[in-house]
Amino acid sequence: MDPFQVYLIYSSLALAVLVAIFAAYRYRMRRMRTLADRLQSLVEERTATLERLNQELQRLTATDGLTSVANRRRFDEALDQEWRRAIRANTPLACVMIDIDHFKAFNDRYGHLQGDACLRQIAQALVGTPRRAGDIVARYGGEEFAVVLPATSGANARLVAEQLRTDVASLRIPHDASTTGPHVTISLGVASVVPKQGVAPATLVAAADRALYQAKRSGRNCVELSTI
Ligand code: GH3
Ligand code: MG
Ligand code: MG
Repeated sequence: MDPFQVYLIYSSLALAVLVAIFAAYRYRMRRMRTLADRLQSLVEERTATLERLNQELQRLTATDGLTSVANRRRFDEALDQEWRRAIRANTPLACVMIDIDHFKAFNDRYGHLQGDACLRQIAQALVGTPRRAGDIVARYGGEEFAVVLPATSGANARLVAEQLRTDVASLRIPHDASTTGPHVTISLGVASVVPKQGVAPATLVAAADRALYQAKRSGRNCVELSTI
């Protein structure tokens, strides 16, 4: 073989090796890009799932399991938030405390399951009463509910409470064992203040609670307004 032929063979071989290396490199790059794309969409998918689960978890931790309205924890958060907002805006904040009348007697007469159903019906009536967007209805505990009404005077909160009372009464849930009337009723205590720095929001709840106690003493199925 003459040297030119040898040179041709070697350079062809070298070129073939180079082409093979380049093809392998391109194949590897393409494969890596495909893997990276797949990984990226997997990460996006998992992130979306986590976000959805997180939202659901937040909703569940803020909701009362029996009645599906806001729970005590959510109520405390909302009260705190609205209290601080009212301080900044120098506007009143109202709270309505609600207690079902003779509910122990209801459970004794109709059973605990009927009692639970009654709680659910009342909760739905309370959230169904037309109110403003920022208002919160919560199950405060047991057979007690609480409502936060931002930017609401005592007189207006009393009107809302009266509406809540009539809405529950118009459910006409039979209550043979009540000494107040033939149907399930609620008593309501209302308080409203213009919050001040250094005063705890619990003072508003305590005032509404005192008014509720007064409503019970006044014969139940009525609204009392606290003078604070
Ligand atoms: P008052 O008119 O003075 O409010 O009397 P009451 O019987 O409603 O009040 P009391 O505090 O004596 O009883 C509250 C009852 O509420 C007793 C309790 O068994 C019942 N209760 C609290 N939570 C639940 C619940 O989740 N489900 C049911 N079915 N009953 C509940
Ligand atoms: Mg009670
Ligand atoms: Mg009660």
